[in-house]
Amino acid sequence: MSFTTLGLNEAILRAVKEEGYTTPTPIQKQAIPVILEGRDILAGAQTGTGKTAGFTLPLLQRLGETAPENRKKRVRALILTPTRELAAQVHESVRTYGKHLPFRSTVIYGGVGINPQIQTLRKGVDIVIATPGRLLDLIGQKALSLAHVEFLILDEADRMLDMGFIHDIKKILALLPKKRQNMLFSATFSNEIKRLADGLLDKPVLIEVARRNTASEQVEQTVHPVDKKRKPALLTHLISENDWRQVLVFTRTKHGANRLSTHLEKAGISSAAIHGNKSQNARTKALAAFKDGNVRVLVATDIAARGIDIDQLPHVVNYELPNVPEDYVHRIGRTGRAGNEGEAVSLVCVDEDALLRNIEKLIKRTIPKKTVNGFIPDPSIEPEPIRQRGGGRKRTPLGEGKPRGANGSRRSGSRGRSQNKPAETSHSNRNHRGR
Ligand code: AMP
Repeated sequence: MSFTTLGLNEAILRAVKEEGYTTPTPIQKQAIPVILEGRDILAGAQTGTGKTAGFTLPLLQRLGETAPENRKKRVRALILTPTRELAAQVHESVRTYGKHLPFRSTVIYGGVGINPQIQTLRKGVDIVIATPGRLLDLIGQKALSLAHVEFLILDEADRMLDMGFIHDIKKILALLPKKRQNMLFSATFSNEIKRLADGLLDKPVLIEVARRNTASEQVEQTVHPVDKKRKPALLTHLISENDWRQVLVFTRTKHGANRLSTHLEKAGISSAAIHGNKSQNARTKALAAFKDGNVRVLVATDIAARGIDIDQLPHVVNYELPNVPEDYVHRIGRTGRAGNEGEAVSLVCVDEDALLRNIEKLIKRTIPKKTVNGFIPDPSIEPEPIRQRGGGRKRTPLGEGKPRGANGSRRSGSRGRSQNKPAETSHSNRNHRGR
């Protein structure tokens, strides 16, 4: 099946072709015709399935079909995302797929100056991609109105709820006109998501594609048992020996990411670290350098890596296993995307055996273990407990304005450094979330 049978117009097909896509992914096959019909959709799709094009392509076409007489200065489509990174990526997709169309789009999120965003909005845009907190700030400042929105997309809605944005979302929904087309994308369907969908969608068409957990079978996974102190040496060995050119490496902590990045640089391997203590600009720059091939290894913490989308990322390394088994699935989901093969390697020391067992339970398979010559673990080393700062599963976004409390107010103390500063793996790293 090719894109031409989906009902998309020539300008959009041309952009798709220029991207090199020949076959629509399953989510695209299902979602595009339904959205083109003007129906609401509730889509179960994780990142990596091609969901962004799945909603962006038909959205662009619908915008052309429903163009009002005076569309100047009216926001007609609103795409909400949980994080800055995802917002930026969706914006990039909107620009890419819409490059032969006249629509203006902009992305708004916290952590960067608000004035340039106000100025862009004043000039008038058709499509806004936003994270909830900053969007509400801009609405509060009368920099934009949602009174003419015809299309609403909630991307990664489950993550938005996880991050505590439900009140912000409700406030935003209250500002939208009643008549509009809604699209809700979520990787999971909790009761909370179902409630949100019930209140939001009008006779939606339900679309579900294979979960990444099953798609992750496309990723070749290996565990290399190794002593903790030998991990840096093993990583440099693997990179050099296999001549890996683009590697995403995960660490558990921000400090660990910095330390490892410095170690790699010293070993002559170009590297950058991204985590919550880095400014948005530093992160964007590091990611761009990594994408361009100027940085060979990107060392990231889980939160910083959320939503990173790099075509055909061939290697993911778990330098340390995550405390939360689901994060393993997210991490390895960075590779093997949209039908490409990928490789995920985990360096596991004796302290991490329990974490590995939990991961294997979650993915319902045993990951093959391979020791590397010269790095065989010393059996006399006793396991030590993994130091956990903070705790709890739920966490807050790196890239977003603060979720507000139930009364709509900003949570107090969110500007300064949190007193009990948690690790990135824990709940509430509010101090990292810029406005
Ligand atoms: P997404 O799930 O939207 O994050 O997309 C995952 C990746 O798949 C992105 O890098 C897209 O550029 C890529 N992609 C989307 N649609 C296609 C397609 N039909 N063929 C090949 N790659 C695609």
